[in-house]
Amino acid sequence: MSILDNRAALKAQIDKVAEVAGYLWTKGWAERNGGNITINITDWVDEGMRALPAITEPKAIGTTLPQLKGCWFYCKGTGRRMRDLARRPMENGSIIRILPDCAHYEIVADAPVAPTSELPSHLSVHNYLLAKGSPYRASLHTHPIELVALTHSKKWMEKDVATRMLWSMIPETKAFCPRGLGMVPYMLPSSVELADATIRAIDEDYDVVMWEKHGVFAVDTDVMSAFDQVDVLNKAAQIYISAKNMGFEPDGMTDAQMQELSQAFGLPK
Ligand SMILES: [Zn+2]
Repeated sequence: MSILDNRAALKAQIDKVAEVAGYLWTKGWAERNGGNITINITDWVDEGMRALPAITEPKAIGTTLPQLKGCWFYCKGTGRRMRDLARRPMENGSIIRILPDCAHYEIVADAPVAPTSELPSHLSVHNYLLAKGSPYRASLHTHPIELVALTHSKKWMEKDVATRMLWSMIPETKAFCPRGLGMVPYMLPSSVELADATIRAIDEDYDVVMWEKHGVFAVDTDVMSAFDQVDVLNKAAQIYISAKNMGFEPDGMTDAQMQELSQAFGLPK
C-alpha cells in the first residue's frame, strides 16, 4: 500500500524525482547520501490525502514559514542515497504536510523517513518562491563535478564570469539556462546563512546557484527542468575543459553572437 496508489498525477511527480535521482547517481554527482530534492506537491493533494492521519509526531522546522500554510512536500530522507531513491522513492523519502502554525511538519506517508537535514533551507526557498508568486515547485541540490571544480578558482567566483564562459561554449547553454549561474561564497552546509545567501541569489534572478567548493542549488517548475538547467551548465563546463585538455583556451561565442541569440529567442539576459 502506498499513498501513490490510484493517484496517477501525484505518482508521476514522484516518478520524476526517482528518474532524476538515477541521473544524479549515473553522472557521478551523488556520492553516498550527497544531494537533496524537495518538491512542493500541494497542487496534487486531494481531499482523501488531507483526511489522512500523520504517522509521526509534529516536528519543528526550526523557522516559521508563513507561505507554507497547508502545503505538502515530498522530501528525500536524511542520510538516504540518491541511487536507492531512484529505485524506491517512497522508502528513501517521505510526504510531509506543514501544520497550520507554519513552524512544524508531520510525516503522512508512506514510511516514517525523516526528511533531509537541509529541510529548513529547502522549505525557506519554497516559502520565498510562493511569496513571489513563482510557478516553481522543485528545488534540487547536487554536486556536479566540473561546475564544483570551477569554484576552486577565485576568478570564476566573480559575478557572471563563469556564466559568460559557460554560455559561450554552445548556444543551447544560454537558451536553456537563460538566467545563468549565481555565485555564493563558501558557507557552512545546512547553515541559515547559506540558505539566506541562496535566496538572495535566486532573488537577483538566477535559477541555478553555485555554492563555492560544494555544489549547486537549482529551482524550476519541476525537478526534471531543474536538473536540465544544471545538466546544460555542466555540459558547457565539460566542453571548456575538453578544449583546455586539447592544449588551448577556447575562443567561445562572441558577445555579439550571444546578444543575437537573446534577441532571436527572447531570452531574459
Ligand atoms: Zn551538498
